[in-house]
Amino acid sequence: MSKPLLTADPQAGFRAHADEIRAAIDRVLAGGHYILGPEVEAFEREFAAFHGAGEAVGVANGTDALELALRAVGVGAGDTVATVANTVTATVSAIEQIGARPVFVEIEPDTMLMSPDALAAVLGAVPGRVKAVVPVHLYGQPAAMPAIVELAHRHGAKVVEDCAQSHGAAVAGRPAGRWGDAAAYSFYPTKNLGALGDGGAVFTHDAAVAERVRRLRQYGWRQRYVSEIPGRNSRLDELQAAVLRVKLRHLEAENAVRRSRAARYLAGLASAPLRLPAVAPAAAPVWHQFVVRTARRDALREHLAAQGIQCGVLYPVPVHHQPAYADPAARLPATERACAEVLCLPVHPAVTDPDVDRVCAEILRWLKP
Ligand SMILES: *Cc1c(COP(=O)(O)O)cnc(C)c1O
Repeated sequence: MSKPLLTADPQAGFRAHADEIRAAIDRVLAGGHYILGPEVEAFEREFAAFHGAGEAVGVANGTDALELALRAVGVGAGDTVATVANTVTATVSAIEQIGARPVFVEIEPDTMLMSPDALAAVLGAVPGRVKAVVPVHLYGQPAAMPAIVELAHRHGAKVVEDCAQSHGAAVAGRPAGRWGDAAAYSFYPTKNLGALGDGGAVFTHDAAVAERVRRLRQYGWRQRYVSEIPGRNSRLDELQAAVLRVKLRHLEAENAVRRSRAARYLAGLASAPLRLPAVAPAAAPVWHQFVVRTARRDALREHLAAQGIQCGVLYPVPVHHQPAYADPAARLPATERACAEVLCLPVHPAVTDPDVDRVCAEILRWLKP
């Protein structure tokens, strides 16, 4: 059998740029700055420029990025934050870290992203109750930002985009991350832009929000030893920033590889009795995952695993069914159905065209009666 195909392959991501990464790490070791130094500053500038404008602030991970972004736009204890339930629990644990409460918004059945209509209903239910909205650009597919931002702002709510899966995506020609009041990124090794450890960043076009995140990430300091606001420690280290600078230079090319593999899957599976990913008309996704849907998801996953093809399920249990965040009042049938049906096929940059063809062939073989 050919070598196993992994659902994510951060080691291949390292090998593809090993010489550049080793050189970057050596530069940090020799430089003597290991926390919040020149590499972090340079990465913040380069990552902001990647969005075309605005400021980026490096933090310790994506969950912290969400928490600090929410705090920086004014969310505090007791506030309500609207988000979706088909996401990693990190989206919600960031809200709860603040002492705020999540309220779940139903998704669009086809794109599996936050439904603007459902959001309008949540925002209108108790006027003024929702302090912030966190749309998740799940699987690298950007949410319906023009409608979401308009609705949120009309109701006095801030928007913090969860961009942990959408580095480089765009909607209506504008990058994901540039729509809201702030955006949170994760650089967990399997993301489209991945470090060799933990990392995250807040992106914002608002200089005051960026300044608050800078203080929050280090003890509330603006000046050393002067804590102006209650802060914490959530710093990005120099080694990860140096690695991320290398990876950022290759991000567009790697996203192009993902797009090309996704197009091959769409063509190869066009006749299959499966639900293929729906891309909204104005969306330019970056295919963090390529997600098909079938009611026989678990059986298909086992069949593919037996052929050496590892597939992920993001996410099998919606957040409102997690023991820690159970919300029996939530009515989210489209979300629950998506979680029961989704299967993520390998689409990372180390996946080749023949790999895609093999996965398609195995799926078609299995689906044949
Ligand atoms: C990965 C991820 C996070 C959390 O990022 P960490 O760096 O693991 O804290 C948050 N939201 C989404 C949608 C993610 O995929």
